[in-house]
Amino acid sequence: MSLTITCPLCGNRNGYEFRFGGEDKGPRPGDTEMSDPKIWCDYVHMNECKAGIQKEWWCHKDGCGTWFCINRDTLKNNQRSREGDSEI
Ligand SMILES: [Zn+2]
Repeated sequence: MSLTITCPLCGNRNGYEFRFGGEDKGPRPGDTEMSDPKIWCDYVHMNECKAGIQKEWWCHKDGCGTWFCINRDTLKNNQRSREGDSEI
């Protein structure tokens, strides 16, 4: 299954040029919460693994090296600009 990813600097490229960086989980836990190992452990290791549109981090490792977020449909393995939008 091929995947084309749109790098914000280089444009559409083959998915093999990129490194998956995991789900976008939003901001890190605050300073007071970081002292609680359970909260920090859940933030780092627990993933939703959504079936459908998921916001993810990717790095263009074989290109410009930029880290960016995309919305990917995990069932069809294609990039979406937003939920409900057509595939790119
Ligand atoms: Zn790039």
